Amino acid sequence: MNEAQCVLPWMHLFVDSFGYFYNCCFGIAEQAYSYDESGQIIKASEPGAILRHWNSKRMVELRKGMIAGEKVSACSGCWRVEETGSASFRATANSEYPMDETTLSMTDPAPIFRYIDLRFGNLCNLACRMCAPYSSRKLSPEFAQLYGAKSVEPFQNMNWFESPHFWDELHAHRHQIEKIHLVGGEPLIIKECWEFLRRLSEDDCAKNITLSYNTNLSHIPPQAKEIWPRFKGVVLLVSMDGVGALNDFIRYPLKWEDFERNLKFIEENFEDLNVVNCHVQPTIQAYNIHHIVEICEYLAGFQKIKRYPLVNLLFDPAYLTPHVLPHQYREEISKKISDYTDEVELGRNDLDPWANLSLVRSLRGIITYINSEDRPELFREFQRVNDLFDVNRGQKILEFIPEFLPIYGK
Ligand code: SF4
Repeated sequence: MNEAQCVLPWMHLFVDSFGYFYNCCFGIAEQAYSYDESGQIIKASEPGAILRHWNSKRMVELRKGMIAGEKVSACSGCWRVEETGSASFRATANSEYPMDETTLSMTDPAPIFRYIDLRFGNLCNLACRMCAPYSSRKLSPEFAQLYGAKSVEPFQNMNWFESPHFWDELHAHRHQIEKIHLVGGEPLIIKECWEFLRRLSEDDCAKNITLSYNTNLSHIPPQAKEIWPRFKGVVLLVSMDGVGALNDFIRYPLKWEDFERNLKFIEENFEDLNVVNCHVQPTIQAYNIHHIVEICEYLAGFQKIKRYPLVNLLFDPAYLTPHVLPHQYREEISKKISDYTDEVELGRNDLDPWANLSLVRSLRGIITYINSEDRPELFREFQRVNDLFDVNRGQKILEFIPEFLPIYGK
């Protein structure tokens, strides 16, 4: 296996929210979707789509390029990560899923789907402020007000997962599957996905499969308790952007009491639900940089759920990054986070050393991120979008984030 090669095109299935197939999630940015002989995009809802993608010209050429040691364009995302000195998705996949050289030398191998990653359109029950109609159709009316009706047209009918063909074809490969990663919209409310998991759970293969979810945890369906324990394990990456009212403000119309009840349900039923890892993942943005410390302190109160956050830094939309806020405000926030980081580094909490180290790294990364750019010219857009959300949702930013009083000017 050469340096440019990655196991994923030989064992992975990735479907994006539109129902298009790619080499992996990085292929989206490179528009490396699979297409058929007539140049038409292969859609997951169509009969025979999985095998047509696997044997498509795009995939065969990609494997051919990798075997020849080329840096194929569909994989630019990984190369960019490696240029920064960080571990790429390729490096992780290659070590997690070793494969034999004979298979890796074939451009048209028999399909093997060990790792499945499915993005379920834009069916979500929330309309979070930093999200977009691509991920939640509930945001379409507000985006139509902000950017015109045409801007949201591409996000209608993102329902590929309703096709029974897809699930039947995937089911035929069930004995090879080791991991299924599920992302929305909101994957816990997709009934077709639950039906598929139930079918798998009635088969011996389920005990070999780890399920992982990116979820808003607004709703835990009752079948989770019955179906999850039949799998090898369940990993939950839970979105949470603040503690209490701030979370309600950002993750509208979720109510903190409902979310917290679900989080505690996971904590109290960890083994019964067969959860092997649950990590809370805040998206760091202009709205919550003032409250990073509160999020860390809140999570430290758990025992089974990871006691420190797995941070996700927001870059898009740019008007919601902390970079739009005044320099001085960001300096004050940085100091608050830095003081807390020093405390953590000195071990003035009861996290284990590994968790402490991870938390310190994340917090230092947040400080660097907050101060990495100045985009004051976007503050006007921040206000325009925020004010529209406030009116539509009956919320007032200063009631949720009083710290904005000096900068919001109202
Ligand atoms: S090299 Fe990177 S971008 Fe290409 S398939 Fe592997 S993980 Fe995806």
